[in-house]
Formats: sequence, C-alpha cells, structure tokens
Amino acid sequence: MPNNKIKKTKGKIKNIKEKYKRPNWDEYFLKLVDVVGSRSTCDRGRPGCVIVKERRVLATGYAGSPVGQSHCDDAGHEMQKAIDEDGKISEHCIRTLHAEVNALCQAAKNGISIDGSTLYIKFTPCYTCAKMVINSGVKRVVAKVKYHAGDKTVKLFKKAGVKLEIIEDKIEKYARQ
Ligand SMILES: [Zn+2]
Ligand SMILES: [Zn+2]
Repeated sequence: MPNNKIKKTKGKIKNIKEKYKRPNWDEYFLKLVDVVGSRSTCDRGRPGCVIVKERRVLATGYAGSPVGQSHCDDAGHEMQKAIDEDGKISEHCIRTLHAEVNALCQAAKNGISIDGSTLYIKFTPCYTCAKMVINSGVKRVVAKVKYHAGDKTVKLFKKAGVKLEIIEDKIEKYARQ
C-alpha cells in the first residue's frame, strides 16, 4: 500500500507522499532481535539476541533448550527459586539456555571471533550471562528494555568497561518473576 497521507490545508485536499524513514543501525538490529526471539521456546519473555561487528551479523540466539531436549512450550518450565542478598525471592526457568548464551555457543561452534562486538538483546542480560558476555570480548550491549533482576549486571558491566544502553526505561514483565 502506498505510504500516502491525505492532508487538508485551508479547505484544499492535498495528497502528500511521506518520506520513507530508514531505521538506523541500532533500530535495524533490534528489529532482528524480535524476529530471532520469535523462535524462542520459553514464553518468559521469548528473548532474541543478535551479535554484530562492523555492521555485520556474526551470530544469533534465542531462549531454547539444549539440542534434542524438550522445550518449555511442550514440557512446561523448569522453575527454580533464588534468594537474593536482600532476602528477596525471585523465580527463574532453568530449562533453556538464555538467548545470549545460545548466540555465544553458535559463534563458538562455528569458530567466529566476537571480540570487540556489539550484542543486541531484548532485555538486560542476567548476572550469569553478563559474566560470559564480558569474557567473550563483547564491548557494547544494547537492550530494548530492562530485566527484572538486572541491577547486578548494570554494575558489573560498568566495572568491566562494557557499554550498556537500554532503549526503553521499562521492565519486561511475565508471570512468576
Ligand atoms: Zn521456560
Ligand atoms: Zn541470562
């Protein structure tokens, strides 16, 4: 459908063609994050991850079980409770590898160096993933939104010199956090 807009100016009807707006690079890779995440087999956010260097996609990953193992969508979640230092209890599904870990595994399996790369992700990596992201040589992380238990990651990335950018100041919500 043509991207035209009918505009009425001083009684006259004008047909104005809107200029096409290309997404910038961050917007483009974050759109890919959504497409990749649609393959996720755990409905706790269905996150996707895209690892990029010099504007080229090096690896992708989504939340999913190890190859050949049953998926949350079929077998249900494998929930585990964690008690934080402040006594707060949070719940986590441990059946899947997180999207960023699956992307790191894909790079490792194919022998692709991701040193100095940018990692695009649906929400802030968890503390465990954050440590792997740092040691993989990722230098910049762009997250669409925040993770409910992402505070420690924010501090760790700061200390480790990984630049973290969160696009929207809101927390990804799903049941049993
Ligand atoms: Zn799950
Ligand atoms: Zn994680």
